[in-house]
Amino acid sequence: MGSKMVVFISGECGDSCYYCPVSEGRFGKDFAYANERKVTELEDFIYESYRMNALGAGITGGDPLLHLDRVVELITLLKDEFGRSYHIHLYTTGRYASMDALTELAKAGLDEIRFHPVKEQYLSAVERALRLGIDVGLELPAIPGEEERISQLVNWARNKGVKFVNLNELELTERNFQSLNSRGFRIGHGLAGVSGSFEASMRVLEKFHEAEISLHYCSSVYKDVVETRTRFIRTLRASGKPYEEVTGEGTSLRAVVKASVDLSEFGERSGDAFVVSPSLVNLLPKEKIDEIWMVEELPYGQRLSEKLVYSKSKDSQ
Ligand code: SF4
Repeated sequence: MGSKMVVFISGECGDSCYYCPVSEGRFGKDFAYANERKVTELEDFIYESYRMNALGAGITGGDPLLHLDRVVELITLLKDEFGRSYHIHLYTTGRYASMDALTELAKAGLDEIRFHPVKEQYLSAVERALRLGIDVGLELPAIPGEEERISQLVNWARNKGVKFVNLNELELTERNFQSLNSRGFRIGHGLAGVSGSFEASMRVLEKFHEAEISLHYCSSVYKDVVETRTRFIRTLRASGKPYEEVTGEGTSLRAVVKASVDLSEFGERSGDAFVVSPSLVNLLPKEKIDEIWMVEELPYGQRLSEKLVYSKSKDSQ
């Protein structure tokens, strides 16, 4: 997923899971995001995809099928722009996945559909999708104490020919922590993983380790840290400025230099300063430099820190 663009098509959803990890700012609201960037036009997704040199897209929400027309148009746009090999998957509960809706999605070029069947009756949508020849997977929250129910679903999926099942570590977020705490769930793994969720997944994985179904465990740390970082690094490599140094954390570092001479040969002018690659700082004519600031940012312009690393006035004291 680190090489794919995350399409948040809308926060609207017809369900209300107590463990829902979608943030307060997004859940229930008809806002769209291309990766971290809020967008208003479908074409903005094309721009963002180029910006990160994406190999595909994962469409999420909310329940994207509440906006079927928008999703179908977007899949068509992305496939027209980037070709058939641009891999697109979509998450849904199945609540709105009628045969007509699924057929439209398949016709537009959807490659894979991942169901999070919040209710048993949504499983009929999984069966419908299986008839259409697109890849079908299940996304199941690894709720501690529900291993039996999860195992039944994995078994069902295997018998139906579902391609894969992902067991997702339950994640405590600002929005769901009260609801999870009131059920006795606490943080126990990584930054936000719920205690017991990893162990519940392992018990299910063990049960099916010889079964013919692809069963994966997805930790909240992996999703939030590894995938996001990989995507940030990819974005910076694809569209970062030459003077931006990419860190292993997926941030960019650059030096902002105030000087009494023209430093265009080292970097780019920006207002009353020059932006220079940190690796070139040692080559600058020190006697002409007034200040050097080291600036760290996320690929979306969000500034994380700015540190004064050299000041002529301090140096001469
Ligand atoms: S289906 Fe997904 S988006 Fe909707 S409430 Fe449940 S977890 Fe949240």
